[in-house]
Amino acid sequence: MRREDRIGKESSSSDPGIESFLRTVAWAPRSLLMLDFDGTLAPFQKEREKAFPYPGIKSVLQEILEVGKTRVVIVSGRDATELIPLLAIEPHLEVWGLHGLQRVKTDGSIKVLGLDEPTLKALALADDWLVSQQLEQTAEYKAGSIAVHWRGLNTTEAEDIHRRVMLGWTSIAKQARLDLLPFDCGVEIRSKNANKGAAVRTLLREMDADTPAAYLGDDTTDEDAFQAINGLGLSILVRPVWRPTAAQLWLKPPGEVLHLLTRWLEACQERDESSDETAPAVNV
Ligand SMILES: [Mg+2]
Repeated sequence: MRREDRIGKESSSSDPGIESFLRTVAWAPRSLLMLDFDGTLAPFQKEREKAFPYPGIKSVLQEILEVGKTRVVIVSGRDATELIPLLAIEPHLEVWGLHGLQRVKTDGSIKVLGLDEPTLKALALADDWLVSQQLEQTAEYKAGSIAVHWRGLNTTEAEDIHRRVMLGWTSIAKQARLDLLPFDCGVEIRSKNANKGAAVRTLLREMDADTPAAYLGDDTTDEDAFQAINGLGLSILVRPVWRPTAAQLWLKPPGEVLHLLTRWLEACQERDESSDETAPAVNV
């Protein structure tokens, strides 16, 4: 028996909440669609530069953009410049990388939030620790953070790396007040200024208050984003198997995510075909 059956949890692909939400998308002049990338739009790959979106995802996002009513934003822990070629959507999507520290606009301009001196020093110490443990080959170095990955390794190797990283990083993070965040098959030490919840709050502030908004993500780093949008829009956990989450709904990738995006596209197109009707009052 699958775990989700044991705990009586079913995914939400036909949830009436989604259809009700999509009616607000249909009637609103603008909406906001925020999407994590790895594990949400694309399958995990050990070779991260080969994590292309699931079939169908790119074309439906392209069409949503072409209708012109939805601000589509990718919110990822990765460096945004890695994701733009993987998405290969023209014109470029708006991508917020490094958990919101880095913003790449549709015109290609990049803005990176500043980091203070104590954060930079602590990250240098965290790097020194990895070098002393000969673990630097497991590391992904980003502005404002270092992530260690153990995807593809066996359990014993993964536990050994995890233990050795934490042995040094725990005190470095505590002293410099950095966040130490586990994610699927890895752990990351990073600036407290960078988290997906802060990114979502900024994005929501940039839109009109009644703009329909949704956030889709799979990882523990997406929980901040779910909490930030709850009460203001729709939060959706994307995972093959449910886990405890702050998200309101759960979809299985890739089929149910593709279905939702297709329904989103149809909702945007609906209004274009019936723009002389009066908008009903529908609340999320
Ligand atoms: Mg993810």
